[in-house]
Parts: sequence; C-alpha cells; structure tokens
Amino acid sequence: MIPMYAKVIVDITHEKLDKVFEYSIPGELAGVLKVGTEVVVPFGRGNRETKGYIVGFSEIPEYPPEQIKPVLKAQENKRAIETKLIALAAWMKESCGGTMIQALKTVLPIKKRGKLLEERWVCFLLSEEEGRKKLAFYLEKNQKARARLLAGLLDQPKQEYGLITRKLNISPSVIRALEEQGVLKVETQQSFRNPMEYQMKERESVVLSGEQRAAVDRFAEDYGKKRYGVYLLYGVTGSGKTEVYMEMIRHVVEERRQAIVLIPEIALTYQTVLRFYGRFGGRVAILNSRLSEAERSDQIERVERGEVDVMIGPRSALFTPFPNLGLIVIDEEHEAAYKSDQVPRYHARETAVMRGELEGASVVLGSATPSMEAFYRCKTGEYTCLTLKNRAEDKALASVYTVDMREELKKGNRSILSDRLSGMMARRLEDGQQMMLFLNRRGYAGFVSCRSCGYVVKCPHCDVSLSSHRDGRLVCHYCGYEEPMVQICPSCGSPYIGGFKAGTEAIEELVKRRFPQAGVLRMDMDTTRTKHGHEKILSAFANGEADILIGTQMIVKGHDFPNVTLVGVLAADMSLYTDDYRAAEKTFALLTQAAGRAGRGGQKGEVVIQTYSPEHYSIAYAARQDYESFYAEEIRYRELMGYPPCAQLLAVLVTGEEEELLSTAVKYLKEFAKRAGKGRELQIIGPASPFVGKVNDVYRRVIYLKSGKYHILTAMKNYMEQYIEMNKGFQTLRVQFDFNPVNIF
Ligand code: ADP
Ligand code: ZN
Ligand code: ZN
Repeated sequence: MIPMYAKVIVDITHEKLDKVFEYSIPGELAGVLKVGTEVVVPFGRGNRETKGYIVGFSEIPEYPPEQIKPVLKAQENKRAIETKLIALAAWMKESCGGTMIQALKTVLPIKKRGKLLEERWVCFLLSEEEGRKKLAFYLEKNQKARARLLAGLLDQPKQEYGLITRKLNISPSVIRALEEQGVLKVETQQSFRNPMEYQMKERESVVLSGEQRAAVDRFAEDYGKKRYGVYLLYGVTGSGKTEVYMEMIRHVVEERRQAIVLIPEIALTYQTVLRFYGRFGGRVAILNSRLSEAERSDQIERVERGEVDVMIGPRSALFTPFPNLGLIVIDEEHEAAYKSDQVPRYHARETAVMRGELEGASVVLGSATPSMEAFYRCKTGEYTCLTLKNRAEDKALASVYTVDMREELKKGNRSILSDRLSGMMARRLEDGQQMMLFLNRRGYAGFVSCRSCGYVVKCPHCDVSLSSHRDGRLVCHYCGYEEPMVQICPSCGSPYIGGFKAGTEAIEELVKRRFPQAGVLRMDMDTTRTKHGHEKILSAFANGEADILIGTQMIVKGHDFPNVTLVGVLAADMSLYTDDYRAAEKTFALLTQAAGRAGRGGQKGEVVIQTYSPEHYSIAYAARQDYESFYAEEIRYRELMGYPPCAQLLAVLVTGEEEELLSTAVKYLKEFAKRAGKGRELQIIGPASPFVGKVNDVYRRVIYLKSGKYHILTAMKNYMEQYIEMNKGFQTLRVQFDFNPVNIF
C-alpha cells in the first residue's frame, strides 16, 4: 500500500530539531517521495513555504486528517549528502531505537558559527642541518622537552601552537625559550583552523610487503569494478595495517573521492596523526573530543568547501558529510568504544556498513583481534578477510609465559608479583630497559573466585559469573538468579575464596618497596584526572623518565615505547569473570594487545601473564597468540548459549526513581512483550537488576530479548515503544534499547 502521510522535519541546520510534522501526500507525489527527500511544506500560522526533509511515512495519521496540510513539492536537493545522512538516521532509528530527532542530532552536522579564533603558528626558522646540530645539542644536555619540540619541527616546519602544546606536551615557556634562541617564531593569523599547515615534505615511501600488497590489490580490484564491499584487515600487532589503510585511501582519493578513518580516541596520538599528515598533507582533518564546538564546526566547513580528503577521528567522525565518500576505515574495530553509550546506541561498525551501502563506499575494518562479529561475517561470506600474518620488517612477536598463581600460593608466595615476573623485572632494571605492569581490572565488578584452585562461582543458567552484592548475596545479572555468599570453596574446600581486591596504587607501593632503585609511574583514573594527565605520563615514560609504568587498560593502547622489553599482566582473569557474555573476547583482546606492547623496538620482548586459570581458553590462546583457535572455541559458546553474533540480543533498560513503580512497570512490559511476541522465534529473559542496580538513587532493571532474527527484535522494539508511549505508568520512567550490547549496563 502506498503511504498517505509523510513525516517531515523542518529547518534542520539549526538546533530546532525538536519535532516531526505530519503532511499529506498529494497524488502526483505518491511514489516520488523517499526518506531524505527535500520538500517544501506550508509551515506555521501563515503557511509560510518552508523547506523540510522527509524522515518517514505512515498510513494512519496521528492528527485528524482535515487538519493535515499537504506537501507542496519535492525539491531537487543540491546538497545530496544531507539526504543520504537522513536516510542513515532513519535506519539508525529503526535498528537501534530512540527517536528520529535523536538519530538526526547524531548524524547531521549542527552548525554553530563560532567567531573565528586568532590562530597562532609555530614556524621553524633554521635550515635542516642547523636544526639537526641543535637537536644533538639538546639531547646531549638532556633537555628533553626542547629536543622533542625541535624534532617535531624538523618533521613539520609549521605547526599550530595549540597542537604543539597539546600533542607534543610542550609548555609555552619552552616555545618561548626556542623563540629567543632564534630557532622558531610564533606567527598570528586569522583564518580557519587547520591544525597543521603542511609543506609537502615527501617522506621516504614504504615499500609494501607481499602480504600488504595483496591486501591493497584485492581492495583496489573490487573498487575498480565498483564492487564496494566490507573487508576485514586481520593482521597481528605491528603488521603494518596503517600502511595498508593509507595505500587504500590514496587509491580512493586519486579518484576524487573521500575517506573517513575511525581510530579509538585513546589511540589517536600525535604519532598516528602525523603519519597521515605525512601522506596526505593539508587535506587531512581531525576531530577529537578536545575540540571546541567552534573548532568542530570549522572542520566540517572545510569538508563542505571541499578542502578535505581524509577525516580522522573517533566514532562521531563517521558522520562527516563528504559529498563523495569512497572508503570508511575502522581501526581496532573490536574496541568497545565504537558502540555509542547514548541513544541511539549505534555501533560504528554496523553503521559504517550501512553508510557504505547507501553511498556506494567500501568499508575496511582492521584488527589484530577481530570482534567475534567481524570474523563470523568473514566465515559467512558477508565480509572479505584480508590477512597479514607477519610483523613488518620481520620483527618477531614477543615470547609469552603464563604463571599459575595457584602454584605461587602453594609455594608460599602470597604477593601480587610471581617469582618469575619479579626476577625478570630485576634483570630489566640492571640492563636499563623499560617495562610495563598492566593490571586488568575491567572486571573489578566483584566476581568471587578461589585463590587456591581458581574456581569461580557462576550462574547455573547463564554461564556468566555471579556478582557479590553488598548485602552478602551472589546475583546473576542476566536472569536474576541468586544464592548466598560462599564461605569455603565449593570445589576444593579452601577458605581463600572471595573478591579480588588490589588496585594500581597498592601495586605501585609494592613495586617501590621491592625495587627502591626504580623510577615508577602510575597511570589510572586517579592520576589522569587532569586534562592532559594522560599524555603527560605517557610522554614522561617515552622520554625514559621512569623504568616501570603501572596502569590499567589505558596503558595498553596507542603508544609505541621502543625501549619496553617486558610486559607483566597482573590478574589476567579479572576481566574473565564479569557478568558479561563478551568477557572471554575482551580478555583475549586485552591480553593480546598487552603482549603486542613488548619488543616494538630492536630488542625482542617478553610477556608474563599471571593468572589463576591458565587453562581457560582465552588465556591459553592469548599466551600462544592464536586468535583463530580462540575464535573457534568462543563461537561454539556463543552458538550454544544463543549470544551474538550467532543470535541477536536486545537489552531493554528501564530506570526510575521509584523502585516499586519500576518493578511493576517492567513486569507489565515483559508480559506485553510475551503477548506481542507470541508465535515468533523469541526468548524473553529477566527482569534482572543490572550490575549496578541503583545509581544516584535511580533504580535499574533489564529485560533481555533473544532471537535468531534481527528484524523480530526491531519489530518487538517498535511494539514496546508504542506500549510505553501509551502507558501512563511509564511517564516517570526512562526506557533505553540496546541491540547486541557491547558494554553491560
Ligand atoms: P599496525 O597498524 O598493524 O600495528 P603499523 O602500520 O603501525 O602496524 O606498522 C608498524 C611499524 O612498521 C610502523 O613503524 C610502520 O612504519 C612499519 N612498517 C609497516 N609496513 C612497513 C613496510 N612495508 N616496510 C617498512 N616498514 C613498515
Ligand atoms: Zn543467570
Ligand atoms: Zn577452590
């Protein structure tokens, strides 16, 4: 049946995205209008002719038909990109939940005209030779900040002031000192902000290895035939994936099309960005969360003026309004940060694939530890797998040792450091090499395990670990199963059973006591609270100001420290026993990334994984750096339990201040879902209190819906949305849908 009514938003370039209006479709426009079509409609009391966009259709009007005005005409849209992005928003609304307005706000660039800031540039004044001499001098005098700045300028003779202070972590006094010495001058100008004015300095080009070449060729061959597909670039850490992306991008840019490169914010370092500048010069733009609204707007304006070929940024850069998008790259595609934690809870991977489909662009996903989703879809033939098996320049992967901490306990060593790790650390200190201690505390969420035998208390129904609640019960957050806290280990009878509690601070103290001669840096939520705390610690470590860096997952990503030859992973199991069906996947990825940190320079690296469950497949395969065996085992588990990617999972999170009302409402919602889903391939689980049952006096409940078919879940979401909207009981409650959740509520 042909829809009779169109839903239209007006005035999208400003922040008035607050309402959808309904218009009737006159006969001559039937079949012409699509989601995203620009239309002219009568608006307001005076029926002023106003431009709008179609965002959806319906057959039954929400208002009395006689009050509904007609669409006047369809416009030829000059800015076709908006049409495409609106279509993408419509897909997001349908497949991720939330309102059309929320989807549009996510997708469309909202223009905030900031006044043009005054720009300051740091310009290098010396010749290359003079610069090198000066650099040697600074290095000799151990003036590290000056050396870093000078090295940066030798690479790139004109750079934006803020970029230097932020990214190179150089203080203004250092810049002033070099200005006084005549090494550089600071210039001021007014224009759009481009964080680095590139004076094309051809860098010596890399000759791709056979594997790299083959990956690029496969991509280029399809591309030439206008077969725009999704590729998984599966390559071990350090295999040169970035070089492959850049070569693919070059190919796309040569055809006058544009590319988006998504990189997790934490890995968006100066090192990485500079590689892209080195290749594509000033036609690169960067988005990151540190930019102000006005700075973001400027970057988007540069895009709209056609000055940008390559946009680099975190998740949100996916919506860069390129007119002729040819390629989307998602580096480290397995990262949880690619899932939005706000409504609409979209995943950058799925959204990129959809955008690619709508706009005829290819998508390249890269990882050393691909998400289960990506690898699964390679197996089903949806994605094409391109493999890099070797590290670039024949650098060897690190040797990995596992230490069974249960054995340490038996030997009488109750410390957090095993004898083996301790011994290897002492040797590094003697040799003047650096090391990292990584505390895996992702699963800090109170799982209960036995320190004698490694036994972990699990839910008999869901095969995830139970969490200890403060009131002394053990609870499953998937199904609500409960049992009393155990006092002795059900498996071996040991009394050493309980939650694992050791923070980075405790480890720092211990390390300092044991190695008083060592310089120690610690990086965690506490030490990185200040704005650039994160980069300060990393650059201090990179400058050799400490021997040991202790930290949480933050230290695992991004930076290259060539002098690090030892990585110790403490409590590798921690992330294994969270109440999260992705626990094994996340653990495997973390351990592999951690191992990838060692031996990036000339010397071979070693990795020690300390664990209470060395036999667990995610730890055993991570130690062997064997992704494919891990995948094979993990996919069996997902299949058996009906978890993504083998089946589809929808989490419905309901929150509210009144616990009783919440409980009742959720019970009714579940009953409704049962009725609405009757006869369909569907399983409804819960309600359970999620991991944190109450935050700031807001109570939370989750219902899970499982099905083999995604469209059944979207249909269920639509029914539930209608039910919630009609039901007064939900007025003070908030409901969020999360499809195939990546992070547990
Ligand atoms: P990944 O992104 O897979 O971790 P990178 O692209 O960062 O790997 O490459 C790791 C290192 O190897 C980088 O220093 C890069 O410049 C270098 N490299 C990559 N490919 C080549 C090549 N074909 N020849 C020489 N060096 C290379
Ligand atoms: Zn359970
Ligand atoms: Zn035990």
